[in-house]
Amino acid sequence: MTSGSDDSPTASSRRPRILCTNDDGIHAVGLTTLIEIASRLGEVVVVAPDREQSATSHSLTVHRPLRATRTPEGYHVIDGTPTDCVLIGINQLLDEPPDFVLSGVNHGANMGEDVLYSGTVAAAMEGTILGIPSIAVSYSSRASERIPTYADTLEELLGDLIRRPDFPDETFFNVNLPDIPAEDLKGRRVTTLGRRVYSDSLTRREDPSGRAYFWIGGGVSSWSGRDDSDFRAVQAGYISVTPLHLDLTNYQLISEVRSWMLGG
Ligand code: MN
Repeated sequence: MTSGSDDSPTASSRRPRILCTNDDGIHAVGLTTLIEIASRLGEVVVVAPDREQSATSHSLTVHRPLRATRTPEGYHVIDGTPTDCVLIGINQLLDEPPDFVLSGVNHGANMGEDVLYSGTVAAAMEGTILGIPSIAVSYSSRASERIPTYADTLEELLGDLIRRPDFPDETFFNVNLPDIPAEDLKGRRVTTLGRRVYSDSLTRREDPSGRAYFWIGGGVSSWSGRDDSDFRAVQAGYISVTPLHLDLTNYQLISEVRSWMLGG
């Protein structure tokens, strides 16, 4: 028993420090919602890109200097990628490491192979690499105006996850919200990554001088995958929660590939 006043914080009652970031940039509606939710759950530090960095994956900016500025609200803004933000935030801008990294709420789904391209997911992955429990959150539509209606639902879900005493090592959670009003939500499902099948998503055209140019994106995508895939949960009106591991090793094939090497 210490002689401090009764309301002095103890280790067990200390509010968690939460680093919030995203890949849609500091002005995104989804980040504003995430900051509001995180503020109910703990002490928030924001380190976010100064502009949209969607589909930057896990890239680091290594060929030019990076600058950090502060908004009137005290948020840190960096002219780099989401991964730059997490790395610089944790190693340089914060007085002590955060207890959690939350990334999002992304304007658009991040399911299946999306997780390999997404800056939102990469930020959570970077937090995990640095040893900080991390969660990525995405909304399955570009209709970002609906994201704030998910604040209470997300507070409950993220609260449940960050209060787990057994938050796993080297694993983060990839959360996708369905494209429906929050009041129509069916519940939560724990899911696996599905497979995205793009068609017509690569366009070749000619510029006014007759030279070809290419544009990646757009087109129609469909999905395939197991019954417990992320996209099936979201299509059925559930929140999808996928635990993702940093280790991409295909352990099922290790023995077989070793036999190839010995046989070669
Ligand atoms: Mn984005």
